[in-house]
Amino acid sequence: MARQNPNIVITGTPGVGKTTHAEQLAQATGFNHISINQIVKDEGFHEGRDEETGSWIVDEDRLLDYLEALPLHSAGGYILDWHACDVFPERWIDLVIVLRCDSTLLYDRLTARGYKDKKLEENMDSEIMQVLLDEARESYKEEIVVELRSESNEDVEGNLERIERWVEQWRRDKGEGGA
Ligand code: ADP
Repeated sequence: MARQNPNIVITGTPGVGKTTHAEQLAQATGFNHISINQIVKDEGFHEGRDEETGSWIVDEDRLLDYLEALPLHSAGGYILDWHACDVFPERWIDLVIVLRCDSTLLYDRLTARGYKDKKLEENMDSEIMQVLLDEARESYKEEIVVELRSESNEDVEGNLERIERWVEQWRRDKGEGGA
């Protein structure tokens, strides 16, 4: 079944700018922005919080059932925004954006958000060790995984232009508007 629009994952360590990018991209393209964190919370797809880090312990089966019921894999046009990307089946996904950020900047963003102790440490380590980039490369074909910097507003603008051009090209390649 051919999708009319691509599905895009926006991933990266908490604080790198996923929400910022996903919201603006959704506005520019008319795609549906799915904040997985929000859905996990709103729909209760979790088994409570991890005592030490305060993060949700996600029930991935229920989350995937929910996503499966959306016209995500048939019509496409979804932006999936989450720090983990290896749960989404490969066949759903056309592009994986991994946002990256300098560690000093990330430290400031996470402390501003009230992260401390183990949660702060774990996320800083994750960014420095490029855990999510490696995870994306292991889970999807290398040619659909794109690493982009998210340190300034100019970065956001440039990244959005780049992704929008990619979406146009994807549509052309699918022969949209063609014979
Ligand atoms: P995430 O969804 O990855 O946790 P957010 O989009 O919520 O990240 O961004 C975290 C904070 O960092 C927000 O205050 C946001 O405004 C800021 N931020 C993120 N990316 C950038 C950027 N490229 N330039 C300037 N500020 C940014």
